Amino acid sequence: MSDYSKLRERMVKRQIAGRGVRSALVLDAMRKVPRERFLPRGQGVFAYDDSPLPIGDGQTISQPYIVAYMAECLALEGGEKVLEIGTGSGYAAAVLAEIAAEVYTIERIEGLATMARKVLDGLGYTNVHVRCGDGTLGWPEEAPYDGIVVSAGGPDVPDTLKHQLKTGGRLVIPIGTSKAYQELIRVTRVAEDDFQTEDLLSVRFVPLVGEEGWSQEY
Ligand code: SAM
Repeated sequence: MSDYSKLRERMVKRQIAGRGVRSALVLDAMRKVPRERFLPRGQGVFAYDDSPLPIGDGQTISQPYIVAYMAECLALEGGEKVLEIGTGSGYAAAVLAEIAAEVYTIERIEGLATMARKVLDGLGYTNVHVRCGDGTLGWPEEAPYDGIVVSAGGPDVPDTLKHQLKTGGRLVIPIGTSKAYQELIRVTRVAEDDFQTEDLLSVRFVPLVGEEGWSQEY
């Protein structure tokens, strides 16, 4: 077993299962994805720290626990179609791709999208599709989705994303009136025009910048 495998196993035990994530599919996915491959050169040593880490362009790879928690909140059973907004390094997309059949992920910063695509291709994630653009508008050609995860914090739930859910589908998104702190929200489309909302957890994400997000980063 490599040192990274040992660190990953310990991360799953202490940071993920230890904090209450129970989904076997999510725990297995977290055991498989090499987080060190999604970090900038020379940063791999920090890969299994219990924290977000810088990935360039002022953006971050999310804390492993948050990635696992958000994936669990989608209640995937395997084989679904999932949309992620905020590809960043591509790590969360890889975790979702271990469970879902197809993952569509959108990143607004071209350099990050290009790098994520390269890393995901290198690891053989042929079921992850990366696009550069404004994720608040979703990926309408591939809609509807069983699950949507937004990895950046917006002022409100984008209406467009809600309407790209299948009936029964779930959207997990950090929402807050401040750009620094948010509440993680889950929206379930219970019928064509009926959406249920639950508050899950207090979180800190970088801002969701776009037509149905914040107008500027700072
Ligand atoms: N999921 C990522 C990972 O595993 O590395 C972490 C995402 S990082 C916390 C949030 C990302 O959302 C940033 O890369 C940022 O550029 C991106 N972002 C912000 N607003 C966006 C938008 N409207 N559409 C797409 N990406 C956006």
